[in-house]
Amino acid sequence: MIEVRQLRKVYPGDVEAVKGIDFEVAPGEIFGLLGPNGAGKSTTIGMLTTTIRPSGGSARVGGFDVAENPLAARRVSSVVFQEPVVDRSLSGRTNLELHARLWRVEPGVARQRIAELSDALGVADLLDRAVGDYSGGERRRLEIARALVSEPRVLFLDEPTVGLDPRIRHELLEVIGRLRAGTDLTILLTTHYLDEAERLCDRIAVMHEGRIVALDHPQRLRHELGRELVELHVRDDLPAALAVLRAHGIPAEDAFSVGSTLTVPLRDLSAGEAIATINDLGVATAISAREPTLDDVYLRLTGDRLAPAA
Ligand code: ADP
Repeated sequence: MIEVRQLRKVYPGDVEAVKGIDFEVAPGEIFGLLGPNGAGKSTTIGMLTTTIRPSGGSARVGGFDVAENPLAARRVSSVVFQEPVVDRSLSGRTNLELHARLWRVEPGVARQRIAELSDALGVADLLDRAVGDYSGGERRRLEIARALVSEPRVLFLDEPTVGLDPRIRHELLEVIGRLRAGTDLTILLTTHYLDEAERLCDRIAVMHEGRIVALDHPQRLRHELGRELVELHVRDDLPAALAVLRAHGIPAEDAFSVGSTLTVPLRDLSAGEAIATINDLGVATAISAREPTLDDVYLRLTGDRLAPAA
């Protein structure tokens, strides 16, 4: 449903925001784009939704090339941006009806679709109130309903849960997860929240500095780090501590750090053995073992790499 080949974007001033990325998204799949600020996620969504012109490579949405056939590519897709696009002074229903008319949805079909979507997204009881009175979560759900009025085959969601409190965020995630049940709606979303990606996405691509640095099922990415890892607080010099650990059989080549906390995936080594060795060496405090999370995968891929010679 989405096919991206060597897609590039260079902004004026030689800012290479997207450096030749490749991925495909199958019909009915929920695909997540993750990465720190500035990684190139918004630029990628912009190119797929035809608001940003690619500098190279190609992208197809629903089979239509975004550069050669932008109108057709846009007709099969819908996008929900972070900034609100609904009219606050109008009711939810009027917003949905206007959008349906804009997309030339036949009025009878539009009525039925608005009823179904507002039910599915839990905004049916709010439809006759002005959108200005909606909470952040309610407005976001209305925006998604609006995007779906035109019956797109692909839905793009740019940071759908940003700025929402945890409970509302969970509710919205559930709603998004339910959306594709019984349909083959394809969803591409960007997010900063790794728990969200793990819960919702069939596959995720981690972007870093304009490139895709990992692409797989969330569980598989997590399993790449092995069954367990140890986390420790390094007393002094990080590179020196790493060198000592390695010299004593701790597999520290995949280690990554945040501040003075060092995280070491253990691969085949048992946590008990590793902790005993590190304790004996006396280079660290607060040593603990745990299972890898997607956060670990992400931090390892997008953080500063520790010097290989260390
Ligand atoms: P993300 O969405 O992952 O935070 P963006 O796609 O917004 O990343 O940005 C990627 C890079 O492109 C950043 O370095 C950003 O400063 C740069 N950039 C984004 N938009 C423009 C623009 N209109 N002109 C110049 N540089 C831009």
